[in-house]
Amino acid sequence: MKDEIIVRRPQNLTELDQILLENGNSWTFVAGGTDLLVQKQVWQRATHVIDLTSVTELHQQVEVLPDKVRIGAAVPYTKIIKHPFIKENFPILCEACRQIGSIQIQNRGTIGGNIANASPAGDTLPVLSALDAEVLLGPRQNGTFTHFKPSEIMAGPGQTRLKQNQYIAFVELPLPAKEGQFWAFRKIGQRQAMAISKLSLAVLGWMDDLLTIKEIRIATGSVAPVIQRHAKTEALLNGQTLTEALIEKAAEALKNEISPISDIRSNATYRRETTANVLKDVLYELLMEKKK
Ligand SMILES: Cc1cc2nc3c(=O)[nH]c(=O)nc-3n(C[C@H](O)[C@H](O)[C@H](O)COP(=O)(O)OP(=O)(O)OC[C@H]3O[C@@H](n4cnc5c(N)ncnc54)[C@H](O)[C@@H]3O)c2cc1C
Repeated sequence: MKDEIIVRRPQNLTELDQILLENGNSWTFVAGGTDLLVQKQVWQRATHVIDLTSVTELHQQVEVLPDKVRIGAAVPYTKIIKHPFIKENFPILCEACRQIGSIQIQNRGTIGGNIANASPAGDTLPVLSALDAEVLLGPRQNGTFTHFKPSEIMAGPGQTRLKQNQYIAFVELPLPAKEGQFWAFRKIGQRQAMAISKLSLAVLGWMDDLLTIKEIRIATGSVAPVIQRHAKTEALLNGQTLTEALIEKAAEALKNEISPISDIRSNATYRRETTANVLKDVLYELLMEKKK
């Protein structure tokens, strides 16, 4: 049992960076605590803790820039779901946040915590991948953050490439074109609420009036140790006219592109078949809607 725990609550980024750069301690970051506080082993070992929810920029900031939005890593899901600009421009992200845990978890849990926890079942991760998100890491070096893709931060289930005392400061989302946009986030779990994904699928794309797919991005969760984009399936669909035959081919391609495992939540065969079926479902829905 440790004798004491040192907790710091810096009020802004400057204070946070000072603590991290001037001090030789190994710090444990806590944001919403919804993952950390149930990981008893990690939490009990922590001797130096920084509460990121005290850092105004990280907890409060949703900054709308000309071509992107920058979201503080410790902004809770509820704020993301309710934010008018995010609702309007990133409905796929709002949908993923709405499917996380419960209202209580959404009030506390954060996007930075979801990335740093590095679970293949993290629901925002396939969506961030489909949105081509960038993650800004601190402490700043000469006033600048280090940029990474969320998938580059994940090294495996529960493992990140974050260095000691490196933290996620912001998530940046490039503004996607609205014209011809279609999107879907689907999560398959044991139940509708409070369920960790057996698999998840995020689709973001653009299509013209003649049903030609100009671009499609497909990302999955829980079917590999890390979140994946599916370049082969995307390439098969890009530039093609959406037809029933193409949908069947795309589902087959996705089946061959994933290599899920069996674990306590599901088995590999179910995951492979269902991921392909979910993609089919999304694309058939799109086809029906466009043909109306
Ligand atoms: C009942 C329940 C249901 C849940 N349901 C879901 C679900 O449906 N879908 C889902 O995806 N998740 C779910 N979760 C998991 C969890 O809520 C999310 O992963 C959440 O996003 C974690 O965010 P947090 O702010 O609470 O992270 P914390 O618990 O504070 O931190 C998690 C980890 O990330 C690190 N960390 C946090 N913020 C940063 C940062 N900015 N920089 C560097 N490291 C950081 C911490 O040190 C810790 O290792 C559930 C959890 C519970 C308890």
